[in-house]
Amino acid sequence: RREVPAPLTLRGIVLAFGGVRAIDGVDLEVTPGQVHGLIGPNGSGKTTTLNVISGYYRPEAGSMAIGPAPLPAGKPQGRAGLRIARTFQTPRLIGEASVLENVMIGGTTDGRTGFAEALLALPRQRQEEREFEARARLALEAVGLAGLAEARADRLQHSELRFMEIARALMLRPAFLLLDEPAAGLSTEEIRRLGALIRGISRHGTGVLLVEHHADLIFDICDQVTVLNLGKVLAAGTPAEIRVHKEVVSAYLGA
Ligand code: ADP
Repeated sequence: RREVPAPLTLRGIVLAFGGVRAIDGVDLEVTPGQVHGLIGPNGSGKTTTLNVISGYYRPEAGSMAIGPAPLPAGKPQGRAGLRIARTFQTPRLIGEASVLENVMIGGTTDGRTGFAEALLALPRQRQEEREFEARARLALEAVGLAGLAEARADRLQHSELRFMEIARALMLRPAFLLLDEPAAGLSTEEIRRLGALIRGISRHGTGVLLVEHHADLIFDICDQVTVLNLGKVLAAGTPAEIRVHKEVVSAYLGA
């Protein structure tokens, strides 16, 4: 009997900042092997939701789980071990380090804190280091940056940095990958490449949660879409269902 990989679920998540509910009872399910789009107007709670899943924020109410296993809230340290990886709206890098090193860091940290420390913590054992490097080169190849592995990271263009961030996240061989506006600042052709890359990642079994403003990308590549508005789920369904959802069209797409 083959085991069915467990989904990542959020139930009734509530989080307020200074009394204002940034997310207000959010339910969400990210299925392994699928791309789940999270859309909504600015300030609707998309990034906050990613931050709750990443453990940066501890919600006031609600629960998270991977299959039957509760996902601890407010504990970012354990996420790499659970193979939950993410990227950020603003790419993070150590400019003077190589692209390869910047990607290798992804095997040791979630990318938010202690970047320089993470660089120092890279494996010093020959064997381990070689394995890390091999994995990083594969990840760079996957995102189309193999030729820039030895370049200094601060020489990369904006779009290349976005792809580098994804390569770094792939170092964890993530079960779940959270992408925060990966298409921001990319050209139409780059967005097409990004879409193909995300589809490829999901085909390998990763559950992708994609926060994105580009409606076309969302509707092209997502299996499921959740629409947030004022911290609440306005609608959830397939792209075909969301496209024609009346309230979504007036609250968001019609804008
Ligand atoms: P989105 O990603 O959909 O644009 P956010 O999740 O960034 O929305 O923000 C949702 C709401 O929470 C907004 O009103 C925002 O101002 C507020 N918010 C987010 N993070 C913080 C924070 N660290 N402190 C105070 N308010 C915050």
